[in-house]
Amino acid sequence: MPKINVLSKSVAELIAAGEVVERPASVVKELVENSIDAGACSITVEIKGGGILFLRITDNGCGIEREDVPTAFLRHATSKIKNEIDLNAIGTLGFRGEALCAVAGVSRVEMLTCTENSISGTRYVIEGGEQLAFEDAGCPKGTTIIVRDIFYNVPARMKFLKKDVTEGNAVAAIMERIALSHPEISFRFIRDSKSVFVTKGDGNLKNAVYNVLGREFASNLIEVNGETDGIKVCGLVSKPINCRTSRNGQFFFLNNRFVKSGTVTAALEQAYKNTVMVGKFPCAVLNVSVPFGSVDVNVHPAKTEVRFSDERAVFNAVYYSVKNAITFSDTRPEATFKSSAVNPFARMTAQEYKQTANVSTNTKPRSFEYVPPAKKEETSFTLSDVVKAEQQRVKIEVKSEPQPEIQKPQAVFEEAKIQKPAAPKTEATEEPKPQKEVRYIGEALKTYIIAECENEVYLIDKHAAHERINYEKLKSTEEIAVQALLTPVAVTLPSDDYILITENADKISEAGFEIEDFGNNSVLVTAIPQMLTGLDVQTLVFDLAESLSETKTAVLPAQERIFHTVACKAAIKAGYNTSAYELERLANRVINDDSIMYCPHGRPVAIRLTKNEIEKQFGRIQ
Ligand code: ADP
Ligand code: MG
Repeated sequence: MPKINVLSKSVAELIAAGEVVERPASVVKELVENSIDAGACSITVEIKGGGILFLRITDNGCGIEREDVPTAFLRHATSKIKNEIDLNAIGTLGFRGEALCAVAGVSRVEMLTCTENSISGTRYVIEGGEQLAFEDAGCPKGTTIIVRDIFYNVPARMKFLKKDVTEGNAVAAIMERIALSHPEISFRFIRDSKSVFVTKGDGNLKNAVYNVLGREFASNLIEVNGETDGIKVCGLVSKPINCRTSRNGQFFFLNNRFVKSGTVTAALEQAYKNTVMVGKFPCAVLNVSVPFGSVDVNVHPAKTEVRFSDERAVFNAVYYSVKNAITFSDTRPEATFKSSAVNPFARMTAQEYKQTANVSTNTKPRSFEYVPPAKKEETSFTLSDVVKAEQQRVKIEVKSEPQPEIQKPQAVFEEAKIQKPAAPKTEATEEPKPQKEVRYIGEALKTYIIAECENEVYLIDKHAAHERINYEKLKSTEEIAVQALLTPVAVTLPSDDYILITENADKISEAGFEIEDFGNNSVLVTAIPQMLTGLDVQTLVFDLAESLSETKTAVLPAQERIFHTVACKAAIKAGYNTSAYELERLANRVINDDSIMYCPHGRPVAIRLTKNEIEKQFGRIQ
């Protein structure tokens, strides 16, 4: 056996440093967190060469007393906790006393710091853990740290760094999260001499989101503000209609510290269930505040993974806060008018009229030359544009595959098991809403019901609407009407499908089927849901098997997939004739029932055109 050695202090420190300092982004995170803990209200971060060559963090926080500066760079040196009791209730971002020591161990560090009451500041230089300068320096109150040449003395680690661009992107991602977690602090992030973002530091999360993530992200958000069992959930989430194809737009904070949490992700996505298309994910900037003692942030040196003492309570708080926010603020999508589109009905200016007149005098007059020309700046809209856009959108989005890393929200907590908070906000739902008067106008393209209600024109997708209504019926506790078959139908299936159907027989019967195992890869259907009367029984069984095997919707539990299939098959079809009576009833139900807002796959059921918007388009109002 080789001899066992106790590692020297410097080697041990290099190993420990590796846990905290992985790449420039982790250095930025630690140093900015120090600035936040120091009470700064303005923090500037500048990087060059992906942060590997140079990074500088400047804050206007409390600074460090002269005699404490060298101590701050020692391992386990911290001003934030004193004993193990403090460990149980950590209210600062740092507490391990490792960061400065780790950073200084693997790079060249220069610190300038000054406290409010000291006459002059301190300059301290430390490279690879070795002190090179400790002297007076003139500097404003606060602390500036410059870190150069990360891993210059650890070539093995240096090899693992990625290209400058990649490292720079990782720093940018960290800066986004930190800026979003502290809207009360003004952050400025400069990359290779270019300003990437500046936040105001006015405490308004929406402003921070606007400055960091951009206008589009910020313009489609709903405010969340809820509390359950002492757990506060605040922030912004996207409208169901504005969800994305990845989870990149999800930012979670726990007591204002950026965290990754499967529980919070699951709760958020569960709250959007049935309003978002499969394979799409809500955006969110959410802060969960829990009492300091009820969470363990000490699970991981980078402190991004946390353990809640009561995961279910956190799940419930997030779920109900988000669900309430969506329910109370969601409205049907309004048709919007793209300003870049061409509008054949736009008004011509006198100037333009002259131009067309000039052109037409050069050629033989033809009747269509008097049609006003398309004018780019004007907004445009025709009903069929909306319909076409909707169809195209639907076509693209239905195809979109879920991301491979999809987590099953159901695997964490089944919705049925979630306990409702003691005092849910129900005042708004207790009183039955008065029915709004709906005027049925007609049907367009054998698909879209046109109806009018309270100064708004609705376009309703008849299939999507009917499908959602059927789905609600199947899901409700109401008994499903069953149609016994005069002659039972035997259906032979491929063995995979046979297994799926027989294994899920209970769930299929919940939807109103009576199916028996007939042996030999066959099942015997003796009854079907009444809403499916007249449809081919064999095809229905095949469809059920397909829905159960579909990988595309595997995120949903089997029962839901069965309900989706039955709801869809039972729904009136786009492109087919439907009686005016039926269409009118549908319009009435959809407009008066806010639960019929999306089809079970998450497509919108209706679009609203407000009188105001229509009048704007016709130039009646500005
Ligand atoms: P921790 O943050 O876990 O306490 P660090 O090694 O990151 O450990 O920092 C050590 C100590 O140095 C801190 O506890 C704090 O007192 C001081 N310090 C570090 N950065 C700053 C700063 N920007 N402003 C004021 N004090 C700082
Ligand atoms: Mg720290």
